[in-house]
Amino acid sequence: MAQTIFTKILAGEIPCHKVYEDDKVLAFLDINPLSRGHVLVIPKEPAETLDQLSDDSAAAIGRVLPRLSRAVMAVTGARHYNVLQNNGVPAHQAVMHVHFHIIPRFDDSGLGIDWPAGKLVDGAQLAQAIAAKL
Ligand code: 5GP
Repeated sequence: MAQTIFTKILAGEIPCHKVYEDDKVLAFLDINPLSRGHVLVIPKEPAETLDQLSDDSAAAIGRVLPRLSRAVMAVTGARHYNVLQNNGVPAHQAVMHVHFHIIPRFDDSGLGIDWPAGKLVDGAQLAQAIAAKL
């Protein structure tokens, strides 16, 4: 995997405002927050997108996401938030190292979402095909 800005943060070559660290995970404040308390949670394992991440690292992130979310909500006073995880440039991924955003939602700031919902037409077949790939 190519070096990214997050690789450098993990290596301590670039500073960050750290909020959490364990042997598999680092969490720190986003440098360009969508709202106050916007936190990034990244695996120490080098992986570009979520599908490339090991079960161990995924579990380690999953274990701390709720705790980190609670802390962010408690400190910012936000009652609502989004957890966002982008994969691939067309999906708005700018840093090619897996990361989860915790983004508090306030009346005037947070994540704006365009959600062009369609209709599910081939649900049974699609669900079966995905299940067969697992
Ligand atoms: P993406 O669009 O890839 O899901 O989000 C990448 C995030 O990384 C952005 O929200 C951006 O503000 C954040 N970011 C980029 N460079 C740095 C940096 O050097 N330090 C920190 N703390 N955040 C960064």
